[in-house]
Amino acid sequence: SSKEHGGDHYTVFDAGMRVLTQRRMEMELALRHALESGEMTVHYQPIVSLTTGEITGVEALARWFHPTQGTIPPSEFIPIAEETGLINDLGALVLRQACRRMVALGKENPDATHLTLSVNISGRQFKRPDFVEEVAAILTETDIDPSLVKLELTESVLMDNADEAVDTIKRLKALSVKVVIDDFGTGYSSLSYIQRFPFDSLKVDRSFVGNMNEAEQNMEIVRTIIAMAHKLGLEVVAEGVELAEHRTALSDLRCESAQGFYFSKPVAGEELETLVRKKWNITPPADGTV
Ligand code: C2E
Ligand code: MG
Ligand code: MG
Ligand code: MG
Repeated sequence: SSKEHGGDHYTVFDAGMRVLTQRRMEMELALRHALESGEMTVHYQPIVSLTTGEITGVEALARWFHPTQGTIPPSEFIPIAEETGLINDLGALVLRQACRRMVALGKENPDATHLTLSVNISGRQFKRPDFVEEVAAILTETDIDPSLVKLELTESVLMDNADEAVDTIKRLKALSVKVVIDDFGTGYSSLSYIQRFPFDSLKVDRSFVGNMNEAEQNMEIVRTIIAMAHKLGLEVVAEGVELAEHRTALSDLRCESAQGFYFSKPVAGEELETLVRKKWNITPPADGTV
């Protein structure tokens, strides 16, 4: 009967739920441990000016190296950190570690004193009542120049309570930090909606950049986003630049900056120092491999 069928269905569902919950709890424990033990570190990916070819800044990216499971990607641990609330500790760890790194780098190399530092902020972190105060405390503690710090937000953060988001962004900007819209084009917001928020720059999502030369439609999307962003007074960073053709096309579209494997993969902090010391102006190999 249908009742029996329903019964079976729920039995299977419960078993699945139990497995999921257990895995989730294990991940939460492991993540909590990672934040305290030094398993969680920060890597840095250069952002390059398309006019000068120089590194103008870096994006900090969280990296989790688990002793037995190996590298766990952000796409796996960021959602768990969000659901468990550990994102607040994770976010503070990344911001603190990255600010310290950039201050140390600047002391060692005068060329590095003007490098900007971009840090990703998740929705739950951004909505926390004392988020702005926590950012302020870390900026003070690490003694970084706040005007070099760029906080990256995604469209989803802005959707549910726009007025509150505008208020938080204004309070952040009062600290002199810059605010960036990340992964633009993947959400549902239009550029006219984005105009409500006092952003300094916009990052075009790599899903449009990655095959802009093969798909004319993507080229048009990138062209439109860049043109409209400029009309709104926003600088544009293109993500996911993997080929020389991407770089050329983006330069032609007057895109200010770019980031991607073509220039450099994200590197550990120690490697960033080497990169800065060795060759300031990144000249990528002719075949685009890194
Ligand atoms: P995102 O902020 O858009 O960061 C850029 C992502 O694109 C990074 O992935 C980077 O490694 C990757 N990437 C850069 N250049 C290329 C390229 O040329 N080709 C391709 N295919 N990929 C490229 P990653 O490090 O795996 O991070 C994924 C996402 O996880 C980030 O996307 C960001 O949304 C989130 N994330 C990473 N670290 C943090 C963090 O500390 N806090 C928060 N809240 N989110 C973070
Ligand atoms: Mg980002
Ligand atoms: Mg992005
Ligand atoms: Mg992102």
